Amino acid sequence: MKVIAIGCTHAGTFAVKQTIADHPDAEVTVYEKNDNISFLSCGIALYLGKEIKNDDPQGLFYSSPEELKSLGANVKMKHEVTNVDPATKTIKVTDLETGKESEEKYDKLIMTTGSRPVVPPIPGIDSKKVYLCKNWHDAKLLFDEAPKAKSITVIGSGYIGAELAEAYSKQNHEVNLIDGSTRVLYKYFDKEFTDILAKDFEDNGVNLFLGSKVTSFEEAGDQIITKNAAGDEIKSDIAILCIGFRPNTSLLKGKVDMMDNGAIITDEYMHSSNKDIFAAGDSAAVHYNPTNSNAYIPLATNAVRQGLLVGMNLTEDKVKYMGTQSSSGLKLYDRTYVSTGINTALAKANNLKVKEVVITDNYRPEFMLSTEPVLMSLVYDPETRRILGGSLSSNYDVSQSANVLSVCIQNKNTIDDLAMVDMLFQPQFDRPLNYLNILAQAAQAQEAKDNK
Ligand SMILES: Cc1cc2nc3c(=O)[nH]c(=O)nc-3n(C[C@H](O)[C@H](O)[C@H](O)COP(=O)(O)OP(=O)(O)OC[C@H]3O[C@@H](n4cnc5c(N)ncnc54)[C@H](O)[C@@H]3O)c2cc1C
Repeated sequence: MKVIAIGCTHAGTFAVKQTIADHPDAEVTVYEKNDNISFLSCGIALYLGKEIKNDDPQGLFYSSPEELKSLGANVKMKHEVTNVDPATKTIKVTDLETGKESEEKYDKLIMTTGSRPVVPPIPGIDSKKVYLCKNWHDAKLLFDEAPKAKSITVIGSGYIGAELAEAYSKQNHEVNLIDGSTRVLYKYFDKEFTDILAKDFEDNGVNLFLGSKVTSFEEAGDQIITKNAAGDEIKSDIAILCIGFRPNTSLLKGKVDMMDNGAIITDEYMHSSNKDIFAAGDSAAVHYNPTNSNAYIPLATNAVRQGLLVGMNLTEDKVKYMGTQSSSGLKLYDRTYVSTGINTALAKANNLKVKEVVITDNYRPEFMLSTEPVLMSLVYDPETRRILGGSLSSNYDVSQSANVLSVCIQNKNTIDDLAMVDMLFQPQFDRPLNYLNILAQAAQAQEAKDNK
């Protein structure tokens, strides 16, 4: 069996390793147009914020072409696949070093071509002073520029822009953060949470320009001026564009079923609408459990799980994809922000009728030498009482509590389940009722009051 994987960062690396493990007789060839594999982009802001061991970005790779070769894969780096013909099961490849073109046959094709940053047609956007933040190539440019650039403008306050703004501000760069939305991280957290972060940004010297989209970039000597619709002219040494990602799937356009944005739709076993073409990671749609529908949520969490499933299901449907809650977390100015499932803004955008409860409670008893308040929200369906989402933020590490909520959403638990489920108690960690029990009990109390 000839297996070809196109693209090898996270989904590709996991799919190839699992394929080799489960199908030792398969002839596996990997085509990757870059010169590296498995780069963890989440380390870019950490490196810039000097939070990486030995200040060595090589630690941000967890595999290599050599490792895949040693496992038995035929690894073709700096090779770009330029066409896929599902009718003849043939791909066309260009060797980017020699320019040589060739054709190869496959029995099974793994489409792990990922995503591209969104780059809108704004005047001046092709300036060399406007950087992207996606892959190792982008990271190296930013790492080289960091010591020179005193002032930075970050466009987009999603999790990537927020992390970059925090990292640069902690290293005493002058930072401007621009977003078309009126709130930072608006897609991830409701206002109670984003107000805290906005204040932390301002307290740390980050200039926020919210509620107005960028309209143009203009070079001015060694600097770049970023203009927005509100009429601000924001001067800095460099600008970094972080406004989202699009699936990189033009190779299969019109050849397999896709969402409107080009994300490949798969079944539970990761087949595209063509049974011999599998897709995983940022090139693919995910099944979003809170809405029970397809969605585009480009996260490494999804990429690695879907990649594993491709390897497991390559010849036989064995392990079903469980879908995702899109759980994610951030640590900004020593504060943890975590969320899973749907928030009220997202519910509104999806016309979902939900209710939310928001409370703050200390994570452990006040008689301890210290404790910390935890801001928490729980979003649920008032008809079924099913939990659909939740967020937490604290100076205490509450990250694993988002994972508990994720399991609750996955398992279709109700607020009543969470209110009473067994959780450990020891004053070092929590109270006789864990703060998640208390959060769900607040939702029960809200329902009791509203249904009186
Ligand atoms: C700055 C940053 C921080 C992030 N932080 C987090 C985080 O903390 N947690 C989290 O879960 N996710 C995070 N993500 C998202 C995560 O990095 C992506 O979801 C993940 O990289 C997707 O992996 P992938 O393999 O599907 O796609 P990609 O990473 O996009 O890789 C696709 C690969 O395919 C190759 N390719 C494309 N087309 C071709 C072709 N025609 N021929 C040959 N090769 C091709 C590309 O060169 C690339 O190597 C972050 C992303 C960024 C940019």
